[in-house]
Amino acid sequence: MIRDIVLYGHPALRAKGIRIARVDDSVRQLAVDMLETMEDAAGVGLAAQQVGVPLQLTVVDISCVEDRPSRMWVDGREVDPLGHMPLILLNPQLEPGGEKESGQEGCLSFPEITAEIVRPSRAKVDAVDLEGHPVVFECDGLLARALQHEVDHLHGVLFIDRMNSATRAGLTGRLKRLKRDNS
Ligand SMILES: [Zn+2]
Repeated sequence: MIRDIVLYGHPALRAKGIRIARVDDSVRQLAVDMLETMEDAAGVGLAAQQVGVPLQLTVVDISCVEDRPSRMWVDGREVDPLGHMPLILLNPQLEPGGEKESGQEGCLSFPEITAEIVRPSRAKVDAVDLEGHPVVFECDGLLARALQHEVDHLHGVLFIDRMNSATRAGLTGRLKRLKRDNS
């Protein structure tokens, strides 16, 4: 089922995700719905907060983006990221690393707004899937960026918090309107 994506101004976006202690039918259904919702919206990632549920759950799929490469390593061995999509990550721990780099980001909770955001170029991820199996890997490129963006959501942090002040100032009017319309 496709769920409604909440927009900036909705309080769920500032809520910290609760750790998922047990995977029950409602968590499984939420994950399936989030995959469907992300695909329908042509997004590369979606956090539970964005469908109004403050849980530590995110889905990511970079396979629809062809012009922004990513690399992925499992146990130190490089693997094809496309063979691991979509990712369903519960309680992810993320350790960013590497050089900082700027890249364009959008967010399904901020329609039509994109901005250059500086983030570390790599990320180490330690999570579990719906079966409780560990999902542990390192990555770079778009995948590392998408994961940092989504794990931020799980802690109530939004990409506008990561914008430099000039970029954010340029968006003030649009952000105010969005917030007013969704609070
Ligand atoms: Zn987002």
